[in-house]
Amino acid sequence: TDMQVVKINDYLWEIPPSEKPGMLVPARIYASAAILGAMDRGVFDQVTNVACLPGIHRYALCMPDGHWGYGFPIGGVAAFNPEDGVISPGGVGYDINCGMRLIRTDLSLSEVQPKLELLMTELFRRVPAGVGSRGFVNLSRRDFRDVMRQGAGWCIAKGYGWEEDLERIEERGCLDGADPTHVTDYAVERGINQLGTLGSGNHYLEIQVLSDKGIYDRATAAAMGLTGRDQVVVMVHCGSRGFGHQVASDYLKVFEKAMRRYGISVKDQQLACAPFRSPEGQDYFGAMNCAANTAFANRQVITHQIREAFETVFGESARRLGMQLIYDVAHNIAKVERYRDGEWLVHRKGATRAFGPGSPELPACYRGIGQPVICGGSMETGSYLLVGTDRAMQETFGSTMHGSGRTMSRAQAKRTVRGEQLMRDMKQHGILVKAVSMSGLAEEAGLAYKNISDVVGTVDHAGITKKVAELKPIGNIKG
Ligand code: 5GP
Ligand code: MN
Ligand code: MN
Repeated sequence: TDMQVVKINDYLWEIPPSEKPGMLVPARIYASAAILGAMDRGVFDQVTNVACLPGIHRYALCMPDGHWGYGFPIGGVAAFNPEDGVISPGGVGYDINCGMRLIRTDLSLSEVQPKLELLMTELFRRVPAGVGSRGFVNLSRRDFRDVMRQGAGWCIAKGYGWEEDLERIEERGCLDGADPTHVTDYAVERGINQLGTLGSGNHYLEIQVLSDKGIYDRATAAAMGLTGRDQVVVMVHCGSRGFGHQVASDYLKVFEKAMRRYGISVKDQQLACAPFRSPEGQDYFGAMNCAANTAFANRQVITHQIREAFETVFGESARRLGMQLIYDVAHNIAKVERYRDGEWLVHRKGATRAFGPGSPELPACYRGIGQPVICGGSMETGSYLLVGTDRAMQETFGSTMHGSGRTMSRAQAKRTVRGEQLMRDMKQHGILVKAVSMSGLAEEAGLAYKNISDVVGTVDHAGITKKVAELKPIGNIKG
């Protein structure tokens, strides 16, 4: 980039407002020198464009997993004054409340290994994957409205999960302000049959193992029920499916017109936005919260299906197998959150909430250690569990990375890797894959992503999240 990038410290860089006309605040990128050097050039343009949006507070941020996205970079975080700032669908992303969930078990690798094939078959059967996949839960329009309003709580009430799951979900799996009257019929039509489905491509259900040497912080891991000894856990990554996608598409159109009406000009049409307090802004917020709640519900039903699959394969109840939810956290969302310096509308797009110890939003079990942060890596290399810090509360609106981030486009990955070959190679490395689409699998090859340990190392050194454990894959279901 020809923009001036000022080093704040080894893991933080700043582009001052003098670098682009219209920047209201500096842009800040969390990265090691190596990650910064390799970063997608589009990120510099996009993060400085975000810094020009009305009402932005303090900084436009990008995490080390950052790469080019629709309008906002993926890995982007931006907070706006809720009174006179904007809300932007591009700052949330098409997959509203895409997020990660992690479930523990008392099982060890040696117990699971002999039944892995069976377990994967059972999971693949119970958790529908692929682009247009349908779920097992039949909903009337009225039920679906309840799901929009109640999120994960609706599922618990219907028997899909345990009462205690709720406190281990961001916002207890239900955002206030969901308003089904601002959702189009077409969005409902796309979403009504998809509860409990994984979706395609980058979404996955993964069986992982935590070895003794994979633990970085024993006490914190123990507080989450993780003791190592080749303990088996399950990670789920998915969002609001066709419903959220349609809500985003619907409102991008609305916002393109609204911008003109409010006299807002943006550097890139993909940054379409409207004042948060405007009718359009509030309508989108009401619809976005509906989509976010269906995503929490989606991951909740999937959790239920996972527990049932384990019960079938191991012949014991999920409770006896110790299948507690560790946490569920969103990484595509806009929320009003309270900080020491006030209330801000925080957009996270491919970025995870990472609240520090003592935050009143955290359940009692985690208030002492900070919020669990679940980060995907790749299906070949591994993933991480971290915790939020006080520093994140001060510097990043309690936010951090969400994964390793792409280095290669999907198209490029597909040209480089063959799905069938990748599947055989992974099997040789002890990772069993079940995929709906072979080309979809190729798009997610490890080589298409940044090195997860480097990315996690950056946020750990920067102090905005602390490493707790590294999780290695043994089984992966891909849409
Ligand atoms: P998203 O698609 O939400 O932007 O990114 C999710 C993150 O999950 C990616 O940045 C990548 O690091 C990670 N990821 C993608 N596919 C897989 C997978 O199959 N397994 C694991 N563990 N991580 C993945
Ligand atoms: Mn997603
Ligand atoms: Mn995601």
